[in-house]
Amino acid sequence: MKIETVYSDGDRVYSIVRSRGPRTIRSKCSGCDGVGDIILKNGEKFTCPKCVGWKVILKYGPFKWKPYKRVIVIDKVIVRKEIGNILDIMYVELNTGTEFRAGDLFETRKEAETACGERNKLFAQKL
Ligand SMILES: [Zn+2]
Repeated sequence: MKIETVYSDGDRVYSIVRSRGPRTIRSKCSGCDGVGDIILKNGEKFTCPKCVGWKVILKYGPFKWKPYKRVIVIDKVIVRKEIGNILDIMYVELNTGTEFRAGDLFETRKEAETACGERNKLFAQKL
């Protein structure tokens, strides 16, 4: 099987990676409108069961994409297959052996930064 690859050994490319920690997003509790208490029709006041009095809801946001810290020199290409189907084409960084997905590599740092911006924007819309 002949497989077309975009980059080859020795090419210098830029990549993007996902940051490790999830972003925490605080939003005003919709159950109590950010007050922390709810008042029943008879006037009794209770701690909001939705936010348990915290007034905010914490959402664990998605990972954030950022440009990889250095220029990658490609050492080799790995093709992952499963029963004849190509699952992924991975590019391996020289010296470190770190693997990068084909879709996460770019020819310039600017392209890598643009891709981070677009992916982070997509994540933000999903919240
Ligand atoms: Zn609440």
